[in-house]
Amino acid sequence: MAKMYYNGDANPNYLEGKKVAVIGYGSQGHAHALNMRDSGVNVIVGLRKGKSWDKAAEDGLEVYTVAEATAQADVVMILLPDELQPKVYKEEIEPNLTNQALMFAHGFNVHFHQIVPPQSCDVLLVAPKGPGHLVRRTYEEDAGVPALFAIYQDVTGEAKELALAYARAIGALRAGALETTFKEETETDLFGEQAVLCGGTTALVKAGFETLVEAGYQPELAYFETLHELKLIVDLMYEGGLAGMRYSISDTAQWGDFVTGPRIVTDEVKKEMKAVLKDIQDGQFAKGWILENQANRPVFNAINASEKEHLIEKVGEELRAMMPFVNKNRKKEVVTK
Ligand code: NDP
Ligand code: MG
Ligand code: MG
Repeated sequence: MAKMYYNGDANPNYLEGKKVAVIGYGSQGHAHALNMRDSGVNVIVGLRKGKSWDKAAEDGLEVYTVAEATAQADVVMILLPDELQPKVYKEEIEPNLTNQALMFAHGFNVHFHQIVPPQSCDVLLVAPKGPGHLVRRTYEEDAGVPALFAIYQDVTGEAKELALAYARAIGALRAGALETTFKEETETDLFGEQAVLCGGTTALVKAGFETLVEAGYQPELAYFETLHELKLIVDLMYEGGLAGMRYSISDTAQWGDFVTGPRIVTDEVKKEMKAVLKDIQDGQFAKGWILENQANRPVFNAINASEKEHLIEKVGEELRAMMPFVNKNRKKEVVTK
């Protein structure tokens, strides 16, 4: 088994006397900043004036412009949306860098050379393997979200010590961290979210929902069957792997799982997954996304608008309104984001 790092592997005093600037206060930013503060780290936030600035100040954090925060910090963690990072980096971060450690939560911009850090800085990443709101929520529950860490440049010889101390301070070492490279983190993160976690799952749910509705079954029932219940099944997989989930379902469901699963995710689908991975590895996916942003996202916006009109969203909204317990964390998160 690969070496996993836990709380005992980190130097708990490493960040003492150091100032950490978290740039951005969105999904990951608010979680990293608040968790570090609660872990006793001297943390400040770098932002532009606006919603996040007000939120971070309300949460009791010291907020500065990106340039000011960068200039006074020892460690700069960049938690802006990936597509905006190169511009903000060039204009506000780079001119204020001397020998700060530069950190990321995803390797995209460094790996694809959209950000080229100076030779004088340690460059590393700590990437929680979960949404920011869970990074915060689990920390408050004395738990954590696992993370990957990677060293890209180690000028001081302390980059790994910093990565582990940082991962510890955001609660990730309670769950465990695994060492990787920027290349591996970037490629696997993009593949996971596209093929399985986000793209694969939403396409599977929609196709199942549409199949039932087009066959004349009630949309509300189709929603429960293909979307709502998915969480319950995934929770069992999260707790006990595939076998743990299969232990809890009926033998009829398990038989259907065995004989039908491979009819849905066929060899053709796996072949397509390999093609998707290749597009990620050779930079095709990155190029498309970078150009899409330069063109102000015409395709992204068109698909986003039409996806919101899908029947599964209309039905889901009505059903979830009657299940406030389903919504209670989500509401808070929507406001936070
Ligand atoms: P968000 O979209 O949630 O971050 C938005 C934040 O950036 C807001 O606080 C926003 O402030 C601020 N911001 C945007 N533009 C500027 C600007 N020009 N100057 C200053 N602040 C600005 O990002 P995520 O948390 O989703 O992603 C951050 C990083 O973490 C990315 O590298 C991502 O890949 C990585 N990551 C994200 C995960 C997730 O759970 N979302 C999971 C693991 C890694 P304002 O309110 O002013 O717009
Ligand atoms: Mg990810
Ligand atoms: Mg990602």
